[in-house]
Amino acid sequence: MERKDEILEEIQSIITSGKKPDANLIAQRYGVTRQTVGAYITNTIRRLKSTQAKIAARESKPVISTIKPETISEQAIDKDDSEFKENIKELEDLVTDLVEEVYGPMFNLLAASRLHGEWKKKKCFYLIGEFCKFWRWDDKPNMPGCKPAIEVDTGKWLIAPTAEFCANCPCYEAKE
Ligand code: SF4
Repeated sequence: MERKDEILEEIQSIITSGKKPDANLIAQRYGVTRQTVGAYITNTIRRLKSTQAKIAARESKPVISTIKPETISEQAIDKDDSEFKENIKELEDLVTDLVEEVYGPMFNLLAASRLHGEWKKKKCFYLIGEFCKFWRWDDKPNMPGCKPAIEVDTGKWLIAPTAEFCANCPCYEAKE
C-alpha cells in the first residue's frame, strides 16, 4: 500500500472512531510534513461529509438524521481551529440546502393548502360557529388539530375543522 493511502486510511479510521487525528504525530510517524497531514485530514473530513450527504439525498432523508454525532464527533475536531470553523460552516450550508430541497416543496404545498382552507372555512355553508355540521361521527374522532365536541340534539361527534381539513374536504358548499 502506498504511504499516502496508509496515512489516509489511518486518518479516516481515527475520525470515524470519533477521535481527533494528531497531525504532528502522524507526520512524524510517516516522515511527512504536518501540512501534508493537515491537508489529508481536511480532505478526509470533506469526503466523509460529502458521502453522508449523497447517501442522505439518495435515501431522501433529511441529512440531520444521517449525520450522527458518533460519525464525526465533536472531540474529533479542535474548536479553535479555523479549519474546523470552516468545515462547520460548510456543513451548516449543506444542511440548509438539503432541508430546503427536501422540505421546501412540502412547505409551499402546506402554505397554499392553509390559505385555501381558510377561505373555504370562512365561506362554507356547513360551518356553524366554529363547528362543521356536515361531518358527524358516532365515536369521538381523532383528527389532529380539530377540536371534537358532541352535538347535543343528535349525540353525534362534530369537529371544529382546521384550515387544512377544510382544504381537503370535498363537501364544501358556499353560503347563500
Ligand atoms: S369545507 Fe368541509 S370540513 Fe370545512 S366546514 Fe365545509 S363541509 Fe365542513
